[in-house]
Amino acid sequence: MSLADEWRAARPKVSGVHVDSAACSRQSHAVIDAATRHAHHEAEVGGYVAAEAAAERLDAGRAVIAELTGLAAADVIYTTSASDALDRLLSSWAGERTLACLPGEFGPNLAVMAANGFEVRPLPVDGIGRLDVDAAARALAADPPALVHLTALASHRGIAQPIGAATDVCRDLGVPVVIDAAQAFGHLDCALAPDAVYGTSRKWIAGPRGVGFLAVSPALTQRLRPRIPPPEWGLEAPVLSLLELGETNVAARVAFSVALDEYVAFGPARIRARLAEVGALTRRRLAEVPGWRVIEPIDEPTAITTIEPLGGADPQRVRAELIAEHGIVTTFADVRRAPFELTAPVLRISPHVDVTAAELDQVADALARYR
Ligand SMILES: *Cc1c(COP(=O)(O)O)cnc(C)c1O
Repeated sequence: MSLADEWRAARPKVSGVHVDSAACSRQSHAVIDAATRHAHHEAEVGGYVAAEAAAERLDAGRAVIAELTGLAAADVIYTTSASDALDRLLSSWAGERTLACLPGEFGPNLAVMAANGFEVRPLPVDGIGRLDVDAAARALAADPPALVHLTALASHRGIAQPIGAATDVCRDLGVPVVIDAAQAFGHLDCALAPDAVYGTSRKWIAGPRGVGFLAVSPALTQRLRPRIPPPEWGLEAPVLSLLELGETNVAARVAFSVALDEYVAFGPARIRARLAEVGALTRRRLAEVPGWRVIEPIDEPTAITTIEPLGGADPQRVRAELIAEHGIVTTFADVRRAPFELTAPVLRISPHVDVTAAELDQVADALARYR
């Protein structure tokens, strides 16, 4: 069976056309069953006892996250989302609060940075928003910020950032690098052992909503001072355990860890290669649709495609009508997603490995009505 057939066979039959994995992928039967089974176990033996029984399952998930990020399983904690992970990290940063990031940084991330009192400066990019690594190396060397934050793949544009080269530059300069892998995890190679990396379950790994992860290297962990409990109380506890403190949906974590196992069984390199192929197929097909322009280069190795209307079409209305009239699920991305890069809203088409040529034809035909 092809990867596409295996992926499709593992999950409930789709209703309509789902080309929205950058928002939330479709979970598999095994992932859904794992969450259900855990809820049953909670009812049978009690929520806290069931959580203890699930500890090994959760450790297995941490081990996969470690493998996919280049850090160690002991460096990984579960969070409720990517944004939550960034907030936990930045609110604990004990150093100077300056940071460099891409001008196309995710709007909600910029809000978390601002809420934590970070002064943010932009890294140099080319015309499409791709990091200019040489110019960045010079700028960072001339005036190093306390942290570099790199969103490896954005929500509003399917450009694969050169995170490997950028991480090397930061390492040479001794500036800790934090990677937002919300879109890159399970999609691009993220095994770079950065100082910190965070992501989510529901996007390309196809786990449940409401769970994410944060991985922090031991060196960076030493420079954190979690806000809760107040550090001056002097309560001794490992820093990462303080960041993970709190009530959580254990069933979702269990299901995420099953999705991680499934992902590894499908083959990370195989999935990455197919997602690159899917992105090129999508862009080639949508580039033929009158009235729309594809933003990314056709062969960009990601499965995120964004298109902007050339006539008067309103992407928000188009997104709603595609769902209501064609059962086609896409994302409308307005400028708040990347307030310092997007100048107009776009429509995002982000299929997973199982998309068919016939489905892409359906999307293209439906879009052609909006010139
Ligand atoms: C989705 C996304 C986030 C936020 O993830 P949540 O799990 O919704 O908090 C952060 N960064 C990027 C690039 C994203 O696409």
